[in-house]
Amino acid sequence: MHEVLFASAHVPRLERNVSLPARFERLLARCDYGGRFEGKRVAIKMHVGSAIGFYTIHPLFVRMLVDAVREAGGKPYLTDGSFSTDAATARGYVPEVVGARVVGAGGEHDKYFYTVTTELEELGDVELCGNIVDADGLIVFSHGKGHGNSGFGGAIKNIAMGCVSYPTRGKIHALMRGHFEWDGELCTHCEQCISGCPTSAIKFNDDGELVIFDHHCRYCMHCTTSCPTGAITMEEPVGKFELFQAGMAATCKEALKFFEPGAVHYITVLTNITPLCDCWGFSTRPLVPDIGIIACDNIVAIEQAALDMIRHEDYIPGTLPDQYTTMGDEGHLFQRIHGKDPYEQVRRAERMGLGSREYRLVEVE
Ligand code: SF4
Ligand code: SF4
Repeated sequence: MHEVLFASAHVPRLERNVSLPARFERLLARCDYGGRFEGKRVAIKMHVGSAIGFYTIHPLFVRMLVDAVREAGGKPYLTDGSFSTDAATARGYVPEVVGARVVGAGGEHDKYFYTVTTELEELGDVELCGNIVDADGLIVFSHGKGHGNSGFGGAIKNIAMGCVSYPTRGKIHALMRGHFEWDGELCTHCEQCISGCPTSAIKFNDDGELVIFDHHCRYCMHCTTSCPTGAITMEEPVGKFELFQAGMAATCKEALKFFEPGAVHYITVLTNITPLCDCWGFSTRPLVPDIGIIACDNIVAIEQAALDMIRHEDYIPGTLPDQYTTMGDEGHLFQRIHGKDPYEQVRRAERMGLGSREYRLVEVE
């Protein structure tokens, strides 16, 4: 059974020592970074967000983690997609603040990858970012939040979507490829889908009909989710969603093979838990009260724990954007919002031998 350390965000009395950063400091002291990372180059994989989103991990926590690795004798650097450097700067992830440089995961020109073959036949080869898997150690530093495709975005998504080339990301998304439908009767030509598409894959043709360029589409589902009238939908054939989850787990498995046992550590920050991913480009209100920060040696256990701690009973009414008019009444909070069971990726990872969903929560006072 895996041990999951937990630093609670609850502040029971007005005392610095019981606030989340103070507890996080004590949590880090229990992670044996000396034994794990001394003398090693340690990649800290983050999702630095994009555009005007502001709920990524606060730079204070990043600084504390960087300092902990350095004090333990490690050589830390932050990393995310190669073209995320500007996004990192906008959110304060710069050496002067966080104490470490930000390195493009796929190299300066986003061309530095290793091609490996996954065990998932439908996915085949994936390209892993050289500047991540070359490291001696890895800390998967994730912000837990919802995700339109996978239900939940935590450690599995941080690796599977964030440690791969742009074409591989599209390939994994395409596992759930469905068929786009556009209803001209419902469409008000507000162009929200066009401005929100990260790959400029949507336009209106000369006849005023909406066209999606399959080649550019990365199946992020921003358009279907953001359309205020439901004019764009995507048929998701049964089994495709599960295949997408399997693709993420299989990609994680290949990335983790590059590291020695014990050289990967997982920390997930469960604050500002929004319904959508930090790639969305802007932030909506958090759905539940802040929970805290958890840490574990195992990717399956930390994902299970994170999901278990985000409870639909804690949902704060009114925090979802108005267009989510039909929240379901069964399953996890993210399943009720996105219609997808967020535990599926965890089950897939467990079945692929990445760990066990059995864990013991140990609160750090
Ligand atoms: S967001 Fe919906 S209503 Fe607006 S232009 Fe796109 S399809 Fe039409
Ligand atoms: S799914 Fe994403 S990439 Fe594809 S058309 Fe819609 S917004 Fe653009």
